[in-house]
Formats: sequence, structure tokens, C-alpha cells
Amino acid sequence: KNLKKYFPIQGGIFGKTVGNVRAVDDVSFTLNKGEALGLVGESGCGKSTTGRTILRLLEKTEGQVLFNGTDIHALKKAELRKLRPEMQLVFQDPYSSLNPRIKVGEAIGEALVDHAIMSKKDVRDYVKEILTLCGLAPYHIDRYPHEFSGGQRQRIGIARALALNPQFIVADEPVSALDVSIQAQIINLLSDLQEQKNLTYLFISHDLSVVEHLCNRVGVMYLGSLVELAPREELFSRPLHPYTQALMSAIPVPDPTRKSERIVLQGDIPSPANPPSGCKFHTRCPYAVEKCKSEVPQFKDVGSGHFVACHLVAN
Ligand code: SF4
Ligand code: MG
Repeated sequence: KNLKKYFPIQGGIFGKTVGNVRAVDDVSFTLNKGEALGLVGESGCGKSTTGRTILRLLEKTEGQVLFNGTDIHALKKAELRKLRPEMQLVFQDPYSSLNPRIKVGEAIGEALVDHAIMSKKDVRDYVKEILTLCGLAPYHIDRYPHEFSGGQRQRIGIARALALNPQFIVADEPVSALDVSIQAQIINLLSDLQEQKNLTYLFISHDLSVVEHLCNRVGVMYLGSLVELAPREELFSRPLHPYTQALMSAIPVPDPTRKSERIVLQGDIPSPANPPSGCKFHTRCPYAVEKCKSEVPQFKDVGSGHFVACHLVAN
């Protein structure tokens, strides 16, 4: 709800705050239980920061994050720790988050012991189960991270997130580092696990074609703002925001039902420290009119759960 995450910019010899990078700039949306919501946009648009602030791995600047009615950012550290197992993060590169000297079985099981959910004795069998669930044979439990391929490491990353039996998982570019053929396997795994465990996902990706297979709804971010949000079929068949249309036109696989003309955006993404006035997209929008420079478009509901922030879209 109205979530903001600003990073102060230090400047001058005294390191005074001279401005803010507005990484997440007033973002609101609802994620329903059992749903997979995709969050897409170019790198630097604030998707990862949104995901991390939602999990309170980063402190918010303003706003609320309600998880089953509890404001995560209002919790004391001890209360937050109790809630932690419910909310997990899957990283883009699980290798960087796996200690090379720790066997994967221990890496997966350590949180269970830390949170006193299970005794060391029981953890081993449980970890084997989780590995199997994630498509890895149980004997992998005593291997080290370097013995695995990229796709297997991501399975380990998912197994580790899953070990605590979470309700909610933020997956931040979980397949971006993988070959296309392996991407599909990991997406299928996430999809199967979601069904089996009734998981709720916030799935972050710079790639619209990746979210299309897994997500029920998709949100599009630009410069820290959510510019469009809609059910998947609705978004892919009727993208309303000029930025979404441009992203969509860049999907390489031709689909006869979609407009095939590639929309090439002019100019670079402006700095989130000094975003354009009015509609933040006006400096690159092919349809910008005078009003776009001065008035911030409302994020409005145009029906069927389709929200868009653009002056040219009628209610
Ligand atoms: Fe383009 Fe104006 Fe719509 Fe922004 S509000 S997306 S600048 S037409
Ligand atoms: Mg990112």
C-alpha cells in the first residue's frame, strides 16, 4: 500500500544527503493467496527493490506491507523472525548465496535447525524429501555447490526456500541466468510446486515471455512506478500502456494474434534520482501530449481488474 523505498544519495565532503534515488515510488497492489503475480520492467525499474522491501529485507521509506493483515514493517525484530519462514526469497543466482564449503544438504537444512523447527537428526530425511520434490536425487545431499549445473543450483535455491514450508515466495529473476531450455524446466517446477503447496508467488523478471507461462496477473513497472496491472490474458491481448506495448513488441517469438510491429523506444531510461515530471514515461513515450509533462496520470481501473496509468486511456 503506497510503498516507497528511497535510497539517499550522499554528496560533498561532509557526506550530506543531497537527494534520493526513488527506487520504489508509491506502489500499491494486492496479491491473492495461491496466485502468481509477475512484476516486469527493464533493469533498474525497482522490481527487485519492491520484492525485497515487501519481505522487509530492506526497510521501507513509506507505506505498508500487509501480510495476512499484519503490517510486516510495523513488527518488532523478534516478531518478524517468527514470521520469516512464511516468506522466502529465491535469487537469480543461487550460487552466490550458497557457501561453496557447505554441502547442499546442510545449506537447505540449516534454517530448519536455526528456527528450531526440527532436530538435526530429522532434518536429513526431510531434506532428501525436499530435494526429490525439486527434481534432484536424494544422494545429492552430500555434494558441494560447485558439483551442480546452473539449473540444478536453481533447484537447490528453490529447495532451500521451500524447506521452511513458506506461504509466499518472492522469486527474483529465478531463470534469467539459465539457458532457455533449462528456463522452461525451472518454470515448470515452480508451477508444479505452486499447485502442490498452494504457494503464492511474486515473480520478478525483465522478460515478459517468462512471466506469461507462470503468472495469473502481471504488473509492469517503469522508474519505480507501477504503470499497468492486469490478468495475464488481458494484458497480453490488450496492453494499454504505451510502455507495456513497447515491451510486448520486443518479445521475439512471433504470435499472429499480436501486433508484430516492433516499437523502439527513443532515449535512455531517466535517472530515478531525478525522474521526469508528470508521467515519468513522457520523455520516451511516442504518444506524449502536453498534459503528460505536468500531470501525473492516476493508476485507474478500466474494468476486468485491468489498471493503467496513462492520460490517453479512457475509463
Ligand atoms: Fe505516454 Fe502521456 Fe500516457 Fe504517459 S500519460 S504513457 S506520456 S500518453
Ligand atoms: Mg533486479
